[in-house]
Amino acid sequence: MANRDYYEILSLARNASDEEIKKAYRRLAMKYHPDRNPGDAVAEEHFKEAKAAYEVLSDPRKRAAYDQFGHAGVDASMGGGGPRQGGPGNFGDIFGDIFGDIFGGARGGSERVYRGADLRYTLELELEEAVFGVAPKIRIPTQVDCQFCNGTGAKSGSAPSACPTCNGMGQVRIQQGFFTIQQTCPRCHGSGTVVTNPCGHCRGTGLLDEQKTLSVKVPPGVDNGDRIRLAGEGERGTNGGPPGDLYVQIRVKEHPIFSRDGNDLHCDVPISFVTAALGGELEVPTLNGKVNLKIPAETQTDRLFRVRGKGVKPVRGGSAGDLICRVRVEIPVKLNREQKDLLHQFAATMGENHEKHSPQQHSWFDGVKTFFENLTGHHGQSSKD
Ligand SMILES: [Zn+2]
Ligand SMILES: [Zn+2]
Repeated sequence: MANRDYYEILSLARNASDEEIKKAYRRLAMKYHPDRNPGDAVAEEHFKEAKAAYEVLSDPRKRAAYDQFGHAGVDASMGGGGPRQGGPGNFGDIFGDIFGDIFGGARGGSERVYRGADLRYTLELELEEAVFGVAPKIRIPTQVDCQFCNGTGAKSGSAPSACPTCNGMGQVRIQQGFFTIQQTCPRCHGSGTVVTNPCGHCRGTGLLDEQKTLSVKVPPGVDNGDRIRLAGEGERGTNGGPPGDLYVQIRVKEHPIFSRDGNDLHCDVPISFVTAALGGELEVPTLNGKVNLKIPAETQTDRLFRVRGKGVKPVRGGSAGDLICRVRVEIPVKLNREQKDLLHQFAATMGENHEKHSPQQHSWFDGVKTFFENLTGHHGQSSKD
């Protein structure tokens, strides 16, 4: 890896305070820690970079050397001290320090403290609920301390005993080549205790699966894909770490009448061809009651009418959108003899004035006529050759 400037890696000025250095490292460590980015080589590289930068800048002696001589200064100063601790897979030490700090965990050894994972819950809403807000109760799975063993995992009457692998230390030393490396005990995962007589209710885990009921306050105006964060309602942390968050993701069901586009609502309104021709007034639905819509005479099908302010008031503030009604002119069906006769009579009155009453149809036929004339023109030429 090319040696990037340590201050640049942590996005710090050269005169950054110890506190700023610590904060910058925490932020990057939280973001790129391998446990949070499993299998992500880029994240791991970032994590190592940040760790290396922090190791130098947090140590006044190394920092001074680095400030004066750059990478050469610190590499030299480290060279004398034997092999560097913290090869691949040993992120523990420095990270443990930082996390112990963040979470106020005055824990012995380097039992790792992690924030619980965030959870996602998809909440399906009716359109009306999304537009006007709602406060549903949701049930989500959770883990609670087993009440039969008080979370210890040991059968009542017995207690967890010291881990025989690490003698209760939580850490083991393993030989790797010439070096001895201290690692979290694989058997007790750093807790220093094991359950020899497991609790039958939680099978020795100390945890029971339960459902918890939460009330979600959905503000008016939410739309598909909006998320509501319930802080601390995610998975519980490890070794006393804080819980994650629960993200409630909104999904709005299809509505039989309205569809939503941003802050506007759309709907189709069928009208009779008589109303379309003569004009009239229609009652159209909105999400909260009905409004009257004036249809002017000679309205063609697919014409859009805008009812101001009857759309959705956006969740992030601002004025409400509009209701946009598209009229669909419906051709009458199942006509009886008398009605058909009337239509024939009506057609007869159109007679020679056809183009005046049906301007679209007229111009369309004109277009078609020109098209055929051009076609036959070309054919005429080619047949002469
Ligand atoms: Zn139990
Ligand atoms: Zn152990």
